[in-house]
Amino acid sequence: MAMKIDQDLCTQCSACIDECPHEAISEDDDGSIVIDPNTCVECIDQDPPEPRCVPACAFDAILKA
Ligand code: SF4
Ligand code: SF4
Repeated sequence: MAMKIDQDLCTQCSACIDECPHEAISEDDDGSIVIDPNTCVECIDQDPPEPRCVPACAFDAILKA
């Protein structure tokens, strides 16, 4: 259970990184923005329990894995 980033749509703007309450989003060694599937809990513990990263992305690059 985790979100993932479509690398074809992601512009590496980094806007999503600070929105994640679990710090699951980071920049990879090659500059790609990635979500750690072992850390992302799809924000089920948040209120409301909706992924915080999805509305933060202006490019609709964050999807269900
Ligand atoms: S769904 Fe929530 S926990 Fe997962 S990457 Fe997005 S903001 Fe972080
Ligand atoms: S907000 Fe969207 S476009 Fe920007 S780094 Fe995150 S996934 Fe990529």
